[in-house]
Amino acid sequence: MVTSYIGLGSNLGDREKNINSAIERLKHLKDTRVSGVSSIIETKPVGGPPQEKFLNAVVKIQTKLSPKQLLRELQDIELQLGRIRSVKNGPRTIDLDILFYGNKRIKEKDLIIPHPRIKERDFVLIPLGEIAPQIVKRLSNEDNKKDKYSKAVNKKSKAG
Ligand code: AMP
Repeated sequence: MVTSYIGLGSNLGDREKNINSAIERLKHLKDTRVSGVSSIIETKPVGGPPQEKFLNAVVKIQTKLSPKQLLRELQDIELQLGRIRSVKNGPRTIDLDILFYGNKRIKEKDLIIPHPRIKERDFVLIPLGEIAPQIVKRLSNEDNKKDKYSKAVNKKSKAG
């Protein structure tokens, strides 16, 4: 079993119902167990056309599915809940993202794990921090180290 974190978002239709239905469906995924659910928070849309606010949550699962199988299952749930892909980054009934899959790093055309831009997205960091504070702490430590490193490099290059 691998621990994975799934990000959920909805800003179309009955947002709370969409998030809760997606969580119910995650609970019924084969070879998968839901072991943590964050609270649902309301957030402002980031990027894309002007649109309504989102509801977001993060769910922790234990799964035997491979990352690709998991992605396919999530896309199935999106379709079942009536997601239509029209405008890029536009409004959506439900969006499901694999944030982490154990410690695995994947960079393929259709699957990037850890999900890119987690660190810039409060709508992920806030619910993730609720159920996985150690991960958010680690991410912020990585950032601090990077910050210190780039400051040191800057100082060095200014010093000549
Ligand atoms: P979106 O429209 O934001 O749901 O993006 C969906 C696309 O992102 C799909 O075609 C996926 O193949 C791709 N994708 C890349 N990495 C991930 C990930 N970690 N979780 C979910 N979708 C991903």
